Amino acid sequence: RLSMAKSKFEYVRDFEADDTCLPNCWIVVRLDGRNFHRFSEQHEFKKPNDDRALHLMTKCAQTVMQELEDIAIAYGQSDEYSFVFKKKSRWFKRRASKFMTHVVSQFASSYVFYWKDYFKDQQLMYPPGFDGRIVLYPSNQNLKDYLSWRQADCHINNLYNTVFWMLVQRSGLTPVQAQDRLQGTLAGDKNEILFSEFNINYNNEPLMYRKGTVLIWQKTNEVVTKKIKLPKEAEEKEVEVTRTRTKVVPLHCDIIGDQFWEEYPEILAE
Ligand code: ATP
Ligand code: ATP
Ligand code: MG
Ligand code: MG
Ligand code: MG
Ligand code: MG
Repeated sequence: RLSMAKSKFEYVRDFEADDTCLPNCWIVVRLDGRNFHRFSEQHEFKKPNDDRALHLMTKCAQTVMQELEDIAIAYGQSDEYSFVFKKKSRWFKRRASKFMTHVVSQFASSYVFYWKDYFKDQQLMYPPGFDGRIVLYPSNQNLKDYLSWRQADCHINNLYNTVFWMLVQRSGLTPVQAQDRLQGTLAGDKNEILFSEFNINYNNEPLMYRKGTVLIWQKTNEVVTKKIKLPKEAEEKEVEVTRTRTKVVPLHCDIIGDQFWEEYPEILAE
C-alpha cells in the first residue's frame, strides 16, 4: 500500500545525527533565562531577589518534573534550573535533543502560562526565552559535585548581590561606585560590610536566597473523604481513605555536605 511504501525522499533521514546519551550516566539539563538582566529590569524585579520570580521559576520546574519522565532531582537559583534524569532512564531512547528541547519548551511555556499567578498586575512585556545545555555525569560523585558547584555559585552571587544592592539602595552609591567598592573583596569583607554598615547578619537572610531551591519527590499521605455506594444500601456513605501520593516538594537546604544525601538516599539509588 502507498502508506507503507518509502518515498524517494526518505534518505534525508540518514542526515540526522545520532545523539544518544551514554548509558548509565546521569543526564543533566540546565536551562538559563535569556538576557534576564534586561528582563528583570523591564519587569521591575525587586533587587537582588524578587520572590515572585523565584517562585514562578520553581512552579515551572515542578511542572517540568511532573509532565516529563524520570527526573530524580532538580536545583534552581536566579534565572537557571538544572534537571537530573535517572541514569537508567530509557525515555526517548536517551536522545539528548529530545531531553533538552522537551525540558526547555515545557519550562518556557509554563513561565508564560503561570506568569499572572505570581506577577498579578505586572504585565508580561514580551515573550521570554531560555537556553539549554546537556551534560552527562558518569559517577554519583560527579553529579553531587555538579550540584554543589551550582549551589556554591548561588552563594557567591547572592552574597555579592546582597552587598551591592545595599550600597546602591541604602548608601546611594551608583552601580559603578558599588562595583568599585567591592572590587577585590573576599567573602569575609562582604559579610563585614553588611554587618557594620547595614546591621545585617548574612546568615539570617532567607534560605531560599542563600541556598537556592532543591526539588525532590516525596511521598505524602493524604486523608480524603470518599463517597461510596454500597450495593445493598440505598444511601451513599462517606468514608475516610488514606492515599499515598508522590509530590514534588521544594527545599532550601544545603546539598554540598553529606547530610542531604544521607537523608534522601533514594535519589541516587536508582
Ligand atoms: P544570559 O542570556 O547570558 O544568561 P543574563 O542577563 O540572563 O544573560 P545571567 O548571568 O543569567 O545573565 O543573570 C541573570 C540576571 O537576572 C541577573 O542580572 C539577575 O540579577 C537577574 N535575576 C534573575 N532572577 C532574579 C530574581 N529572582 N530577582 C532579581 N533579579 C533576578
Ligand atoms: P509526539 O509527542 O510523538 O510528537 P503527537 O501526538 O504530537 O506525538 P505527531 O506525529 O506529531 O504526534 O502528530 C501530531 C498530531 O496533532 C496529529 O494527530 C495531528 O492530527 C494533530 N494536529 C496537529 N496540527 C493539527 C491541526 N492544525 N489540525 C488538526 N490536528 C492537528
Ligand atoms: Mg549565562
Ligand atoms: Mg540568564
Ligand atoms: Mg543565569
Ligand atoms: Mg508531535
